[in-house]
Amino acid sequence: MTWSRKNLEDVETIAPTASVYLTPERLALQRTARAFAMEEVLPLADELDPRRREIPDALLERLAELGYFGIMVDRDHGGLGLGVFEYALICEELARGWMSVASIIARGNGTGCASPDEDRRAELLRRSSRGEWIGGIAFSEPSAGSDLANVECSARPDGDEWVITGTKRWVGHAERADFLHLLARTRDPREGEGRSAGLELFLVEKARGSFPEGVSGTPIDKIGYYGLTTWELRFDGLRVPADALQDTGQAEGQGFKDSLRWLGPARVQTAARAVGLARGALEDAVAYCRQRVQFGRPIGEQQVIRHAIADMAAQVEAARQLWMHAAWLVDSGEAGDEAQRSSTRQAADVQTSQAKLVASETAEQVTSQALQIFGGNGYTTEYSVERYWRDARLTTIFEGTSEIQRKIVSDALIGH
Ligand SMILES: Cc1cc2nc3c(=O)[nH]c(=O)nc-3n(C[C@H](O)[C@H](O)[C@H](O)COP(=O)(O)OP(=O)(O)OC[C@H]3O[C@@H](n4cnc5c(N)ncnc54)[C@H](O)[C@@H]3O)c2cc1C
Repeated sequence: MTWSRKNLEDVETIAPTASVYLTPERLALQRTARAFAMEEVLPLADELDPRRREIPDALLERLAELGYFGIMVDRDHGGLGLGVFEYALICEELARGWMSVASIIARGNGTGCASPDEDRRAELLRRSSRGEWIGGIAFSEPSAGSDLANVECSARPDGDEWVITGTKRWVGHAERADFLHLLARTRDPREGEGRSAGLELFLVEKARGSFPEGVSGTPIDKIGYYGLTTWELRFDGLRVPADALQDTGQAEGQGFKDSLRWLGPARVQTAARAVGLARGALEDAVAYCRQRVQFGRPIGEQQVIRHAIADMAAQVEAARQLWMHAAWLVDSGEAGDEAQRSSTRQAADVQTSQAKLVASETAEQVTSQALQIFGGNGYTTEYSVERYWRDARLTTIFEGTSEIQRKIVSDALIGH
């Protein structure tokens, strides 16, 4: 059976076209991403998500053609050479279509490209920006989620190799990935060291579409976020070469810090994805309440619905301004002298958490309110609003839960 959702008529974009952040170049990027998301991503999401299918290869190729796997990779290595702001801007649009499509480009964009060997790094960056080096992130474990310092998966040296043993949970896209970015423990912490001592990042190369010998995987049966299969992986003595250790030329024990380095951009991107979901639900709810007639007139003429729509629009815009400001801060963290960079980065740490917190909680509330406006129809797979609602629920959990974001913000304000 071919699945099709019911189409809503006259769905309009509800997003500002003018803002202090939106230069003509950014508006052009946004227009392209928006047209792509609405014309190519959304119809596929509507067809494939109810059947729990994965993002098709052809769509990955389209993302690569548009340069979305290389937004933040420099132009010399085939990327677009843009910043976190543009990355998040495009992700808001993609998530309006299908959140997993906005997520998959985070597995390119220079992920898994750190190497002290300049030629190797250049090659990986070029592959990354072409969408030919897409990874799976294997940080979390059954006993290590919010508390990543609790990672137990071990990497032990044996001759010229490392032997990896343990279980990783929640690895999105693992089977289809070209590599796994894996956090593992090379030794126990010594006396006086923190719990993260001995944690290092490994790059496990693999063939697309299978797991290497020594790794087996089981898909996790989720309630949403289809398009990207999420795996539990068992490493049973996987052997990887000595240079799989992501030696960035810094001191031993950088793995944990390196894995946290991406959290700022990831939080901004998650905030933007959450806004994309909330916006999708809002836009669909506006179209629906104009069309749905009860008591002889469109439900959009009832003041209670109008006020709900106004509140949703204001919440979405507030969340969007937060991710935009956070993105601007992250990008600005690379400018100025050392003192300026350090103070901007401190501000960005808090601001990215605030943006992630507010945007994900907003997405949960706005998509739920939108579903309410759809009445019984909202509680079916006939309209996309149920997908926005299910996917929004995840945004308060992954990339650091709302409680962890609150901890980061309150620690910064009150102290540890
Ligand atoms: C669909 C999905 C996809 C994911 N994709 C990936 C991926 O690709 N790669 C990857 O490595 N991980 C991935 N994750 C893992 C994700 O990052 C974790 O689920 C998340 O960090 C929370 O960890 P946890 O699930 O173990 O919850 P826990 O850490 O066990 O938390 C349980 C509850 O306790 C609260 N809590 C925990 N510690 C504190 C504290 N100190 N103060 C207050 N409250 C606290 C949490 O907020 C939460 O409410 C994914 C998760 C999901 C669900």
